[in-house]
Amino acid sequence: MTASPSTVAESSAPDVDVVVVGAGLSGLTAAHRLRQFGARVAVFEADDRVGGRVSSAEVAGVHVDLGGTFVGPGQDRVLALADEVGVTRFATYTAGQNVIRWRGQHRRYRGTVPPVGASIVDVARIQLTLDRLARTVPCGRPAAAGQAAQWDAESLGSWLRRSHASSAARDLIAIAGRTTWGCEPDEISFLHALHYIHQAGGLSSMLDTAGGAQEEHFVEGSYEIARRLAAGLGEALRLRAPVRRIDATADRVRVTTDHESVSARAVVVAVPPSLRGRIAFAPALPPAHTQMAQRWPAGVLSKAYAVYDRPFWRDRDLSGQGLSDTGPVFITFDAGPAGLDAPGVLLGFVGGVYAREWDDLPPAERRARVLSSFADLYGPKALDATGYIDQRWGAEPWVAGGPTAVPGPGAVVPYASALAEPVGRVLWAGTETAKRWTGFMDGAVRAGERAALQAQALLAVPTTDDEQTGVAR
Ligand SMILES: Cc1cc2nc3c(=O)[nH]c(=O)nc-3n(C[C@H](O)[C@H](O)[C@H](O)COP(=O)(O)OP(=O)(O)OC[C@H]3O[C@@H](n4cnc5c(N)ncnc54)[C@H](O)[C@@H]3O)c2cc1C
Repeated sequence: MTASPSTVAESSAPDVDVVVVGAGLSGLTAAHRLRQFGARVAVFEADDRVGGRVSSAEVAGVHVDLGGTFVGPGQDRVLALADEVGVTRFATYTAGQNVIRWRGQHRRYRGTVPPVGASIVDVARIQLTLDRLARTVPCGRPAAAGQAAQWDAESLGSWLRRSHASSAARDLIAIAGRTTWGCEPDEISFLHALHYIHQAGGLSSMLDTAGGAQEEHFVEGSYEIARRLAAGLGEALRLRAPVRRIDATADRVRVTTDHESVSARAVVVAVPPSLRGRIAFAPALPPAHTQMAQRWPAGVLSKAYAVYDRPFWRDRDLSGQGLSDTGPVFITFDAGPAGLDAPGVLLGFVGGVYAREWDDLPPAERRARVLSSFADLYGPKALDATGYIDQRWGAEPWVAGGPTAVPGPGAVVPYASALAEPVGRVLWAGTETAKRWTGFMDGAVRAGERAALQAQALLAVPTTDDEQTGVAR
C-alpha cells in the first residue's frame, strides 16, 4: 500500500473505503459504525494505545480512570455504546455531606451550591444569569446567537467582573471552569462558555453529581469501551501510526503515516482541533480551518487518585465530594465502590493555574501536595494512602492537554464553523465537533456516529474514479 505521498491520481480501486485518523472514543466509534454499515476501514492511531483522553490504570489493586470517567442523564449515545459493548455502570457515591474549605474555614453542606456566607445570593444570581444567557446560544451554532459578537469579544472572567459578581461567585465559577475546561475564566471566550453550558443542558446538568454529568461511572472503566471497540477492529487498527499527511482529490484521499500510505474514498479526522495543525493537507485546508486549529488549544486538567484501606470519610458521614479555594486540588470525588469494607478511593482534580505549577513537579512532590490537599478536606488520615497515581494530560504528546479545547476571546464567531464542516472528502470527528455534550465522552461518540453517516453518504455516490477503476456501487 506504500506510495509516494504526493501521488493522488490513482488507476486502481482505493485500498479501503474510509480511513479514520485517531483511535480515541470518537474515531473508534466512527470506525465501529462504518464497519456495521459494511465499509472497509483503516484506523491510524499515533500513540501506542487506543483511547486518547480515556485511559486506565490499577493502583493498590483498584481500577481507576485516568481521563474521562463520569456519565450522566442525557448522555444517551455513550450510554448506548457502553451497553452495546457490555460495559456496565455504577452510581457515584453521594451519601452524606459535602465539604468545603473556603477562606480558611471548613464547612459541611448538601447539594451542589456550597455555603459561602452572604454571597450565596450572588452565586445564585450569577448561576441563573449564565443559564438564561446560555439558552439564547443555539446548540452547534454559537455564532448565530443574537449577541454572539459582543460575547465572543470578551472572556468569562471579564463578564463576571462587568456583572459585579462577588469574589465568592467568581472563585466558584473559576473552580467549575477548571474542572470543565481546564482553564481560568479569563482564558475562555464568554460565548464559548455560554454555548458549552447550553449544549450540556445547563449548569446543574453539567456540574451536578446526582442527576447531572457526574452521576455514574463505569464498573470496568471507560477505557474498557475503547479497548473493546479496538478489539473488534482487529488488523484494521494500526498503533504507533501518526498520520503526517492527507492528500485529497475530488474522488479520493491518500493518508500517509511514517510507515504506510493508504487510499480511500473518505477520511475521518478524529483528533483534537489543535492537533489537526500537525497534519499536512494537500491541497491546503481553507484559511478558517487552519486558523481554527491554531486558536482552539486544549485546556490543562490533571487527575490524582489516592487509595486507602477503607473509605474513612464515609464513617464521618462525608460523601468525598469536596471543594477548596486553595490548590493544588480544588475539587474531589469519592471514586470508590459502594460499601464500607471496600477500599477507599479519593479522586482530586488539578487544573488551570494550579496545573501549571504542579504538573512540573517531581512525582514525590506532586504526591505530597495532593495528599496534603486531601488532608485539608478530610483530615490527617488522608495522608496514609496505600496507593497513589496521577496523570498529567498536559504532558501527553498526542492529547496536548484536557479535557477539551478552549477558544479564547474572538476565536468562536470566525472559526467555530470550521470544527465540523467537511472539506471535500475530509470529514471531522472528535468531541469538540459535537453539537451536544461537546467536551464529554458522549460528544465524542455523537461526533463519531455523525462522521460515520457523512462518510457513508459519500460512499453511496458514484465517482468518476469508480468508472475508471471499474468499481461497482
Ligand atoms: C482529566 C480529564 C477528565 C475528563 N473527565 C470526563 C468525564 O468525567 N466525563 C466525560 O464525559 N468526559 C471527560 N473528559 C473528556 C473526555 O475524555 C473526552 O471528551 C473524550 O475522551 C475525547 O475523545 P475524542 O475521541 O474526541 O478525542 P481523543 O480522546 O483526544 O482522541 C484523539 C486520538 O487521536 C490520536 N491522534 C492525535 N493526532 C493523531 C495523528 N496525527 N495521527 C493519528 N492519531 C492521532 C490521539 O493519540 C488520540 O488517541 C475528561 C478528559 C480529561 C483529560
